[in-house]
Parts: sequence; C-alpha cells; structure tokens
Amino acid sequence: MTDYHADHAWVGGAVAHDVAISVGDDGRILSLVPDTSPATGAIRLEGFTLPGFVNAHSHAFHRALRGRRQRTGDFWGWRETMYEVAERLGPASYEELATAVFAEMVCAGFTAVGEFHYVHHERGGAAYRDPNEMGWALVRAAERAGIRMVLLDTCYLLGGFSTPVTGVQVRYADRDVTEWADRVRALAAGLHGHPSVSCGLAAHSVRAVTADDLRAIAALRDTLQLPLHVHVSEQPAENAACLDATGRTPTALLAETGMLGPATSVVHATHPAADDIDLLGEQAVTVVACPTTEQDLGDGLGPFAELATAGATLAIGTDSHAVVDPFAEMRGIEMHDRLRRHARGVHTPAALLDAATTGGARSLGLDGGALRSGAPADLVTLRLDSIRVAGFDPDDLASAAVFAATAADVSDVVVGGRRIVAAGMHQSVPDLPDRLGGTIRAMMAER
Ligand SMILES: [Zn+2]
Repeated sequence: MTDYHADHAWVGGAVAHDVAISVGDDGRILSLVPDTSPATGAIRLEGFTLPGFVNAHSHAFHRALRGRRQRTGDFWGWRETMYEVAERLGPASYEELATAVFAEMVCAGFTAVGEFHYVHHERGGAAYRDPNEMGWALVRAAERAGIRMVLLDTCYLLGGFSTPVTGVQVRYADRDVTEWADRVRALAAGLHGHPSVSCGLAAHSVRAVTADDLRAIAALRDTLQLPLHVHVSEQPAENAACLDATGRTPTALLAETGMLGPATSVVHATHPAADDIDLLGEQAVTVVACPTTEQDLGDGLGPFAELATAGATLAIGTDSHAVVDPFAEMRGIEMHDRLRRHARGVHTPAALLDAATTGGARSLGLDGGALRSGAPADLVTLRLDSIRVAGFDPDDLASAAVFAATAADVSDVVVGGRRIVAAGMHQSVPDLPDRLGGTIRAMMAER
C-alpha cells in the first residue's frame, strides 16, 4: 500500500482539502479521506490534485512535425508532409519516438492515451512478419513511458471514395476489412499480460473505408465490446466528397451503417450539419475535441456546446501534438465556443475538467477519470506556486486549472499508484527534451 497526501483535490466535482489517498497494491484507490493530517510516510502532493487527464486522440508520430512544418499550407498540404514522416518510420525508430512523445504526455498530466494507429505495414505495403509489429512498438513505448494506452487499431483501406491507396498510404492499408479484423483479434489476444494497455477499434474516416466495411467494423465493435473511434467532418472538403459519393453527410453515413452509439467516439466533428448534431446527440456518442490541432491546421471552430446540449459527451485529444497540454485543450473548447458565439461562460470549469477526465475515460472504455475508492490511482498534481497561477482564488481552484495553468505547472503524476513524474521530471525516461529532440532530428535527417 502507498499513501499520498494531497493539499487540495478534485473529488466528486468539488475541491476537498487535506486529502489522504491510500492506494492498494493493485494500483487502485483504497480510500480518500479529506480534512485529515498526513499519515506517517505519506508522499505529499503539494498543490491541486486532479484525476489523471485522458488524451483520447493521438497520432504519436505527428509530433515530429512540431516547429518544422507549421508555417504554411492548408490541411491537405500538411497531410503530405505528415506522410513523409510516416514513410520514415520503422519499428525501432517508432518505439523511440513514441516513448519520448508518451513521456512528454505524462509530464503534461495525461495518464492515458488513445493511440489512433494506422502505420501498420512495411514500406511498400507488405505486412510485417508479425502483422502487429508496429503496434507492439507502440505498446513497448507506452509501457516505458508509464502511460496507459488504448491502441485504436485503424482500418484504412482506401485513399478516398472509390480511390485506391497510393504512395505511403499503402503502409496504412490491410488487404480488406477481414484481414484488419484478424490483426486486431491477434493484438487483443496478445495484450493479456500487459495490464496498462488494451485494444480498441478505429475506422480512419468515411473516406478510407466503404459503407459495407463500416457495417463490418460496427459489428466487430458489438462482438468484441471495444471502443470505436472515427475521424468525422474535420474539413468541409470531406463533407462535400461524401455527399458527392454517397448522397449523405459523413455523420448520416455513419448512422446508417450502425457506426454510431455510446461506445463510439467521433473525432473533431468540426463541420457537422444541423441534423448531424442531433444525430450525434441522440446516439450518445463521445465527441473528441482537439482544439489546438484544429487551430494549427486552420480546421475551423466546431459546435462543441451544441453537441453537448444535443446529448454528446465531450472529450479532449492532442491529435497532431502541435501542442501537448491538457489545459490548453480544455480551455480551447471554451475559447472556440466563445469566439463562435460571441459569448463567455459557455462551459463551466467543472464541465471542462469532466471532458479531460471522465469524458476521455468513457471514450476509451476505461474505468478511471475520477478520484473515488476503487478507481485506478491516476493522479495529476498542479503546482499552485507558479507565476501563471499566482493570485488564484482559493475557493475556485477549478478556474485556476482551466483558465490559467499550463502543462508546465504539472509537478507530480501518478499512474496506477506509481509515481511516474516527480517535481516535473519523468522518473524513468531521463533527459526527455534532449532525447525527444535527438530522436526527431535523427529521424528527419534519415533518408
Ligand atoms: Zn487524428
């Protein structure tokens, strides 16, 4: 058993003080006792302790583009440079890069990640000897970095409506939906013995699979009872192409093929039609908002508030990793809606914290996201002595977290009861900035 003592903690949607948190040997919270003095030997968590944040949408390798390919070009131009990085990845380089990227996430306060994984195949498109070799590189990376991971193995079969994959896209594509499903089943079976990693499903987008494939993917979700993710309406051009090819919006096509529902997360939903918003709400999907990526790529301002009012659950993701900062994503949901609606106070700080915690856990089929007895002991502690939060209102720590803090203010991170970050330093991946920078420079120089 390990004892922690939080100066302040977010428990049941309110701030509690002097909270003793006991963690069992199974990594779960045994008890939470507020208004108590520290137990002998308890590890003190100075500041404001929150449930670990959940990053519901990541493509780890996109991190290599930060600060290198952000100056110009639209989404589709950015995608070409992202493809150049995908072409360079091998299992060893992907493991090194992803280890550092996942470690960066933990340092920022994320204790779980949904990795939307589609670079499965070798250069040229052949399957690796173990078809999940690239997936296993990500599993090792997550375990080394100490983050929980749901590996969302992605079905990506077409380059566009009725268009075969070309160029580097052949690395993403299985021969057909059955081959993809067989690979996913093998991965899921192989993950026994990896308690911090589990398997989920993804369809890349309505562009990348046919309607019949969408039906097969939805059926596999129901058979295996796994979470299912799909990119939806990030760009107006996707809506136009889908309407042209099928006579339906992407959301309507997903509804018709059984893809929507409470176990499904739609990523972005930046440009849904009015009927789409109602459909996504009625189907109780999770919408994964990725505001910093949507800013970086010039995607637009998604109707987050309307989606939540319609019945969707919000979660956050860092997607392209132009920024890795849960506070920026939470704040981004509110700021996008303020800019769009010309109004403040659209979401409460508690609702934004829910998106980053319980919303993400729901999206990934995890039972964490809250500080309560029996939940996994995933904790993130925010310093309250930094210049950014100086002057905070002690009666409104949620606002300090949502409106003032950044990832640089995270001091301690505990995952499954284990202290992964202490005093802002990752405990098992040393020299993180040098390591991440060196890995990216080596990979981008390689030809
Ligand atoms: Zn994405």
